[in-house]
Amino acid sequence: MIILVINCGSSSLKYQVIDMTNETVLAKGLVERIGIEGSALTHEKTGMDKYKLITPMETHKDAIGHVLEALIDEGHGVIKSMDEIGAVGHRVVHAGEKYAHSVLINDEVISDIEDCVELAPLHNPPNLLGIAACKELMPNTPMAAVFDTAFHQTMPPESYIYAIPYEYYEKYGIRRYGFHGTSHKYVAERTAHILGVNIKDLKIITCHLGNGASVSAIKRGKCIDTSMGFTPLEGLVMGTRSGDLDPAIVSFIKKKEKLPSGESTNILNKKSGVLGISGVSSDFRDLEEAVAEGNERAALALKVFAHKVRFYIGAYIAEMNGVDAIVFTAGVGENDIGMRDIICNELGNLGIKLDLVKNKVRGKETIISRDDSRVSILLIPTNEELMIAKDTLKLVQGKK
Ligand code: AMP
Repeated sequence: MIILVINCGSSSLKYQVIDMTNETVLAKGLVERIGIEGSALTHEKTGMDKYKLITPMETHKDAIGHVLEALIDEGHGVIKSMDEIGAVGHRVVHAGEKYAHSVLINDEVISDIEDCVELAPLHNPPNLLGIAACKELMPNTPMAAVFDTAFHQTMPPESYIYAIPYEYYEKYGIRRYGFHGTSHKYVAERTAHILGVNIKDLKIITCHLGNGASVSAIKRGKCIDTSMGFTPLEGLVMGTRSGDLDPAIVSFIKKKEKLPSGESTNILNKKSGVLGISGVSSDFRDLEEAVAEGNERAALALKVFAHKVRFYIGAYIAEMNGVDAIVFTAGVGENDIGMRDIICNELGNLGIKLDLVKNKVRGKETIISRDDSRVSILLIPTNEELMIAKDTLKLVQGKK
């Protein structure tokens, strides 16, 4: 079956077309600046040069219309007609407490996603637009929703309840939800496959280190804790997000800087993290370049980032009473050799020994721990699209 995977942002849309008979990507692409001047579609048929279309796209429906046209185009298309698309898998960010797994989309599911708009005001509305557009353009094609929060729904209450008046959890759903679930699940499953061990016999710590970053503790295949919380702001230091913070700092800065309403949240989301510490960039490549030129604050930013990852790894080893595998994924986790080295440095007493030679690798699925390391360290490029397609296929075939 051929599956179209769609990931809608507020003004962008990413897609992949995957042939599930052999899990190969037939085409992928990106629409940018939806509803903004200069809308553009970049489409890439596997093995061919990129095709770019610059044309006004007012809505997500316009964008998906152009994607479908590109897919059936004689030159750069990959299917003869839209009927060849067996199902559409949508990435949806927030399902609150409602869904612990992916679901086929019907009116009730759409209404449940709408109910979670308050919890993810930047993400769920564009996800809904993508679903509505596909429903209109391909009314007879089944669709599935694959939620970022679903994998973390197995967390026990002691992991997800905040120590604030309990009524806020009851009234407003304020609790820890966790994000990047599809990625954490994918790399955990790949880890079990690569090690040749049943996931139910493993304790895994998955480190999704990208522009957004989170760590999860996965015991016997179930997530028991994760570093992101009510929103994707909690946890690790990120590209531009602060991560964990003493909450008193927020009102203190607000008063001192006389910030208008909403500005403190903006600062914590967009001007903090390694960008905030370094004053240089949120991109780790820029930071490493700056360090090489002697920039001390860039060096400090990288140290603070690594410190926080180590902090969570330590905490999760304690929570799970041990660990069998630590996995690195996403932009930084997959590519930043130096950062993996700093994070794993001097953890030998915990049985974690990185092989400095094997670690000299980027973006390739491989084991990077020493042969005498009790804990396996792995590099696994994440593949959320494939995970979405797999879940969608299972649902459509009635296997879930
Ligand atoms: P993601 O959000 O997973 O796409 O990750 C994006 C981040 O990965 C970028 O902001 C970079 O900081 C980081 N990144 C990508 N390639 C490299 C590299 N070769 N070395 C260090 N960091 C990298």
